[in-house]
Amino acid sequence: MAILVPISFLLRFFFLLSLLSFSVSDSDSPSAHQHRVFPRPLIVEYTDMTEEVREQCGAWRVAGEANNLGPWRTVPEECAEYVKEYMTGRGYVVDLEMVSKEAREYVKSVELGSDGKDAWIFDIDETLLSNLPYYAAHGYGLEVFDHEKFNDWVEKGVAPAIEPSLKLYENVLNMGFKVILLTGRSERHRSVTVDNLINAGFKEWDQLILRTSDDQGKRAVLFKSEKRSEMESDGYRILGNSGDQWSDLLGSSVSVRSFKLPNPMYYIP
Ligand SMILES: [Mg+2]
Repeated sequence: MAILVPISFLLRFFFLLSLLSFSVSDSDSPSAHQHRVFPRPLIVEYTDMTEEVREQCGAWRVAGEANNLGPWRTVPEECAEYVKEYMTGRGYVVDLEMVSKEAREYVKSVELGSDGKDAWIFDIDETLLSNLPYYAAHGYGLEVFDHEKFNDWVEKGVAPAIEPSLKLYENVLNMGFKVILLTGRSERHRSVTVDNLINAGFKEWDQLILRTSDDQGKRAVLFKSEKRSEMESDGYRILGNSGDQWSDLLGSSVSVRSFKLPNPMYYIP
C-alpha cells in the first residue's frame, strides 16, 4: 500500500508532462508557443447550430421561398434559431434589397399607357410594413399564429416601413403607376392601417382594399384573385405585384411580373 502513493503521483506527473509537450507541438503560430500552456480544448468552437442544421434549414428556407413546400403552420423547431438569425442579421435585408432592385429594373423597362390605368399592387404586411417587432416577441414563427395577439399589435399602428420596399414604392409612384394596396387585414383596421402607412412614409395610393365581412374565411389566394379580377374589369392593367406570400401573387388575373419578398416566418395559403 505504501508504494502505491508514489506510483500514482508519478503517473499524474507524467500525464501533466505529456500535456505540456502536446501544447508546444500543437501550436500553429510562433506566438502560440508563448501563450498556450495547456492544449487547445477538443471543442474549439461553440455555436448553437451545427453546420448540418444550418444547411438543412437553409434548404428549408429556399424551398419555402420557391414555393416547393406544402402548407406549413410553424417554423420547424430545429430551424427556430436559424430563422431568427436570418431575420435579424444581414440575410433578410440583403434579400429584400435584391427584390427591390430587380423590381426597380423592371419599372425602368416598362412603357406606360397614357390613360393612367397601369397598376402596381402591393401587399402590406411583410411587404410594405414590417411586423418583425411582433414576431421577435413570438419566436419568429415558432409559435402558431394567434389572430387576437396579432390584431392587438396591428392596432398599435407602429409597424415600421420595409425600407427597400419604400424605395420601390416611391419609384413606382414617380413613374406614374397607380398604386393599389391589397391586404388580408380586416376593413375594421382601415384607419389604423392608413395612419401606420403614412407615418412609415407611404404617403399616397389609388386604392386600399381590405377584407370586408364578405371576404372573411376566404383563402387569401382566392380573395386576392377576385380583387385583381375586379381591377381588370375596371380597366386596370396589372403590371407589377409585390408580396411576401405566394398567395399574394398566384391564382387568377396574375400580374405581368410578380415580386416575391422573403418571409420564412409564416405561410398564408
Ligand atoms: Mg404579407
